[in-house]
Amino acid sequence: MSDDEDRFWGKVTIGDGCWEWQACGSREGYGRFGLGGRVLLAHRVSWTFANGPIPAGMHVLHRCDNPACVRPGHLFLGTNDDNIADMDAKGRRKGGVGSRHGSAKLTEADVPKARALVASGMTQREAGKLLGVSRWTVGRIVRGKTWRHVEDEEEAEFVRQDDLSRSYDVAKSFPVQINDD
Ligand SMILES: [Zn+2]
Repeated sequence: MSDDEDRFWGKVTIGDGCWEWQACGSREGYGRFGLGGRVLLAHRVSWTFANGPIPAGMHVLHRCDNPACVRPGHLFLGTNDDNIADMDAKGRRKGGVGSRHGSAKLTEADVPKARALVASGMTQREAGKLLGVSRWTVGRIVRGKTWRHVEDEEEAEFVRQDDLSRSYDVAKSFPVQINDD
């Protein structure tokens, strides 16, 4: 392990889940690491230590949605995601528009995220698990349905659903819609 890697991992709490950056970070929560006279995003540095140089035009994304996380296994390369990152950031800044007072797990920001996860090779079921929605919802997102559709159809699924654990999951996502029949 190089001195730079030693220095890098000295700023990280390593555990069972996310490995969070403990040193300075950006306003968005991404860790920052000084290397070779430049300040780099820590999760990108981590990916590089694990995998080598980041191919031109590619982005390092988080499977775990935790910007401070630098655990190599939680990071993946994404294509075409200037747009995704941008929509993601905007979705968050809007603070709950389209996501029901911020209580729904699925947000507009999850739509590009779901597409990126599936594009990275995850199954729709895995991506759904990460985002807290069903694989059917992820499937619809990937096929390009609008956010509005996604939200309405998720509720329709809830009404049809007789599996208790999944009903509970969906109910948590849409607490306003819970009813017992
Ligand atoms: Zn993580």
